[in-house]
Amino acid sequence: MRIHLSHVLCLPLLFTALTGNSQSNTQHYNGKVIDMHVHVSVKESENHAFSAQRTNTIQDILAFMPRSSIVKSVIITMARQGDMQDTRFRNDSIIALSHRYPSLIPICSVHPMDGDSAFIEMERVHKQGVQIIKLHPNSQHFDVAVPEVAALVKKAGELHMVLLFDSYSPLDGDEIGKLIMLAAMNQDARFIFAHMGMVNFPQLLTIEALKKYPWYKSNIWFDVSAIAPILGNSPFRDQLVWTIRTIGIDQFMFGSDFPLFDPTEAIKSVHAMGLTKEEEQKLFYTNATRLLGLQ
Ligand SMILES: [Zn+2]
Repeated sequence: MRIHLSHVLCLPLLFTALTGNSQSNTQHYNGKVIDMHVHVSVKESENHAFSAQRTNTIQDILAFMPRSSIVKSVIITMARQGDMQDTRFRNDSIIALSHRYPSLIPICSVHPMDGDSAFIEMERVHKQGVQIIKLHPNSQHFDVAVPEVAALVKKAGELHMVLLFDSYSPLDGDEIGKLIMLAAMNQDARFIFAHMGMVNFPQLLTIEALKKYPWYKSNIWFDVSAIAPILGNSPFRDQLVWTIRTIGIDQFMFGSDFPLFDPTEAIKSVHAMGLTKEEEQKLFYTNATRLLGLQ
């Protein structure tokens, strides 16, 4: 019985040795990670699970972080149009969580169609140290090209805030172009395009043309949430990596999109992209510290 068991136990070791998995781990960056894209519930009625272990509750976020060497998580809420009381409640809840748990960084939200009320809310959270505002054209139901969005971006520029824009709409194939135009025309605002445009990512290469202009301040950043697990180990991988390197690895950051994706799996999917260890260190950690002004 003992001999039989030892044979069984040796099989995975043999497999690891043959595939070289243990060796390839040393070729990857395995240090501290900052997760730039984490969804948290601020109302019990909005708690939901993506697996038996993974819900959008604060408890699950805090439980998952140490398992993936995540030292900071950026937690996100999303404002609804026409309900400023709810927007303030969401933003206050996110800020309170970041005070209670110093490993969390707050991302607040407003709705562009709320006009002056949205600007007042941006000023209010900015005074409390919030640097990033989340906007999601598809789920907040607005078009990126409308003047209300341009006005909000101008306000963000005045406050030197960062706008985290979801950058994939299944209903608006021109959205990447609209986002790039916004960023080009508002050089004082900084942008993170979440999910790196997903399946529309080649359109981001338009930024190569922008870089030719002396006034362009490289104010567009990206998180690779969702796109890394979906395309990172696909036939599109080489194009994806080429796009990242052409735009510049310094603009790219890790995000898990928790709880939609397991952070450990999301990290593995970035490793599968075949970036160098130095590039991985920038993407997983250094670029985020630079954008957020951490230490
Ligand atoms: Zn998300």
